[in-house]
Amino acid sequence: MRKRLIAGNWKMHLTPPEAAAYAEQLLRHIPDLDHQDVAVCPAFPALGAVSSVLSGTHIGLGAQNLFWKEQGAYTGQVSPSMIVSCGCRYVILGHSETRGRFGKTDSEDDLAYFAESDATINRKIKAALPHGLTPILCVGETLSERESVKTDEVIANQLEGALAGIDGEELYGLVVAYEPVWAIGTGQACEPDEAERICGQIRAKLADMLGTECAESCRTLYGGSVNGANAGSYLKLPSVDGALVGGASLKSEEFARIAIS
Ligand code: PEP
Repeated sequence: MRKRLIAGNWKMHLTPPEAAAYAEQLLRHIPDLDHQDVAVCPAFPALGAVSSVLSGTHIGLGAQNLFWKEQGAYTGQVSPSMIVSCGCRYVILGHSETRGRFGKTDSEDDLAYFAESDATINRKIKAALPHGLTPILCVGETLSERESVKTDEVIANQLEGALAGIDGEELYGLVVAYEPVWAIGTGQACEPDEAERICGQIRAKLADMLGTECAESCRTLYGGSVNGANAGSYLKLPSVDGALVGGASLKSEEFARIAIS
């Protein structure tokens, strides 16, 4: 039986003192429940401060990205060992806000923010695994891909690209978050039936690629405008093992409401 995972992506919010104070609030609001894991993913500068609050508690810590090299002349980057030494167990990889071409762009100049590709996401996953980090791999289609009925193909390609050359044994416990790009931060969540269908397809694809045993150990989350009011309709679905929550994870009572849905 897979344990549910509720993960909060704090994106580029909260300074270290704010993040530590917020983590204290979460500890007060979120109960330690046997059937689920809860984790938060602060921005890099706040990892240490949040770790001092959450270390040894029932709320886990994750980073929002990493670079695949261990050290060197890579200005602005953060290695797997660095985030592990800050107490991280999880790392979000392939978020649509860090992907290139098909990810989020600046509407004024159409620049892809961080130009991540399936190939660089693949390197990041390969770098994370030997450190015992659990990747939270994000996949999902844009609105135009959905409208041209390419959703299933896009997700299958993203999984193939991100997991290329990695054996099933290494990927036990992987987390894959289905995050339709059009649902992120828009207030327009995916229909629960569709989230269920896609999460089921993700597991079937993982089974094809990595074997059934590995696929059964992987958790498939839904993410995209999840809030306290709609979380229950995703978390009761058989193929949805939890949620990746952005905006609503920054409000302690609402995040707690999601966690107990
Ligand atoms: C996210 O950033 O992963 C996300 C799901 O954001 P939101 O919940 O705000 O849509």
